[in-house]
Amino acid sequence: MTTIIKITLKNGKDEAIRRFHPWVFSGAIKKIHGKATDGQLVEVFSDQDQYLATGLYQDASIAVRIMAFAPQRPGVLDKAYWMDKLSRAYHARKILDLTNNPYTNVYRLVHGEGDHLPGLIIDHYNGHLVIQAHAVGIHLYWDVIADCLKEIYKDNLISIYNKSKETLPSVFAAEANSEGFLYGNATSTLVQEYGHTFEIDFVNGQKTGFFVDQRENRNLLSKYARGKKILNTFCYSGGFSVFALKAGAAFVESLDSSRKAIQLTEKNVELNFPGTQNHQVIVADAIQYIRQQGPERDIIILDPPAFAKHHNVRHNAVQGYKRLNAEAIARIAPGGLLFTFSCSQVVPMGLFKATVTAAAIEAGRQARILHQMTQPPDHPINAFHPEGEYLKGLVLYIE
Ligand code: SAH
Repeated sequence: MTTIIKITLKNGKDEAIRRFHPWVFSGAIKKIHGKATDGQLVEVFSDQDQYLATGLYQDASIAVRIMAFAPQRPGVLDKAYWMDKLSRAYHARKILDLTNNPYTNVYRLVHGEGDHLPGLIIDHYNGHLVIQAHAVGIHLYWDVIADCLKEIYKDNLISIYNKSKETLPSVFAAEANSEGFLYGNATSTLVQEYGHTFEIDFVNGQKTGFFVDQRENRNLLSKYARGKKILNTFCYSGGFSVFALKAGAAFVESLDSSRKAIQLTEKNVELNFPGTQNHQVIVADAIQYIRQQGPERDIIILDPPAFAKHHNVRHNAVQGYKRLNAEAIARIAPGGLLFTFSCSQVVPMGLFKATVTAAAIEAGRQARILHQMTQPPDHPINAFHPEGEYLKGLVLYIE
């Protein structure tokens, strides 16, 4: 990538960029000066021809992801650029006591826009880094990104795996370098999260291998789990189940519609509690299972995948959350708890709260909100990009 293409915005469309919002939507573009292919480095100018920012172009609704608000050295995001950005991200995790913590060695190192690197995700699993591009331009920089990560982690780095096949548009994903090792070759590892052991298969697992964003919410469950009968739905690799059992839950059921996910859960429960009789797995659709269930549970956990990926399907998503939550609330024992989550970015906390309230009304149960939860600080929200706040959770006390 040696050339930079200039993009001029329509009059007035420069305001968001001046407020450091990191996206340019295609509708804001007045003119592309030359031929911008996907992944092209571009400089964005106002209609008055003032330089605004440098970013990566993609022929999509989000047309430019801003990588810098100052001109870059001719033609490239060079090593100094990546070293600066990645070191800052590392430092932010260092102050969270995550970079050298044997008790919790799984964390997110780079959270896209939240770390001023739109389109890039990097998760750390006990010395193994899994990186994922959500924008085409990023995948042109693998080599330099890998070099910087090696310098930052030094001897503490075992492998770097690029897992971008599912997150890039298919023509780019088909390219040989969208998936595979950039360094080392381990395919799984054991990690610690608040002293709980998990095996993470980052090559075959969902997302980068683990739902790192639920750490604090799993830990919160520990406070309430002792002696309780718990149903953990959408359990994936059993994060909430392992925390609940460790905290002394009387019995935990882990449910997921994916058999592969259930196998991961079984493995993780076995790793922490060999031979336990207090755990049962269920492969089923969550709402169907909950509907058919007679006996009440002390705690039910609902952590479904994003029901809405776009605004135009938000209404259906809200209906989906309401039905699911109403069924669950109806089956919670008086004095029990509902842990309920939404990771749909287009459903903000206010709407989620209103939806869960409507579900409680439908179930005919009194409910108090005890906790309001969000994503952990290693998934930071860029203050100029409120869209980055995606994970919402509530703990409800049901009478
Ligand atoms: N709570 C998990 C993360 C959940 S991710 C954790 O702490 O790690 C969402 C999970 O929901 C995935 O594992 C997916 O397989 C599962 N899933 C998707 N649709 C489902 C359905 N209709 N019923 C049950 N599980 C479902």
